[in-house]
Amino acid sequence: MLNQCELLCLLASDFPSENPRTQTRNFPYTSTLAYIKMSNLTLEFGEPIEPTVCKCCNNISHTVTGFVYDGKIAHGVYFAGWTLGHTPTEIKLTICIGEWGDSSSAKKRDSINLRIRGKDEGFGMMITNSTESPWFGNSILGHFMNREEAMNSKYKSEFLRIAEKIISTVPELKKYLN
Ligand SMILES: [Zn+2]
Repeated sequence: MLNQCELLCLLASDFPSENPRTQTRNFPYTSTLAYIKMSNLTLEFGEPIEPTVCKCCNNISHTVTGFVYDGKIAHGVYFAGWTLGHTPTEIKLTICIGEWGDSSSAKKRDSINLRIRGKDEGFGMMITNSTESPWFGNSILGHFMNREEAMNSKYKSEFLRIAEKIISTVPELKKYLN
């Protein structure tokens, strides 16, 4: 069964052109849905993860993780990692969305990986192949999309909205990127 957010994504991406209703709004239909979804996204920060030493430079590598909720529905998880002293200032962010109920399985989840660059590089995010993710292959994260799959996915805008929510909300990430 689709959760509410996935359903909205499907509606937004697939239905408008087939929708026989007369448009009476003076703003685009998909923007309305996007706004509704955005307003429902919340994060729950996970337990602190012990920093590690980077193999390439002996600097400290940090990881934060957490959960994404759409209203009260468990919607996704994220892992974000960065190493102090690396240039450019960059975070690797892996986001997994899908179904999380007891009766669900990882087959109902998809993951993408992004590179998030900081203020010194003018801020920006880019979807990469998932093989760049330090968490690539983690079985709870379901199917890892390569860049092309992610760019063409009907969930692309949802992933990007979640990414924006994460980097504008998680204190450690905001601090590092600025
Ligand atoms: Zn390093």
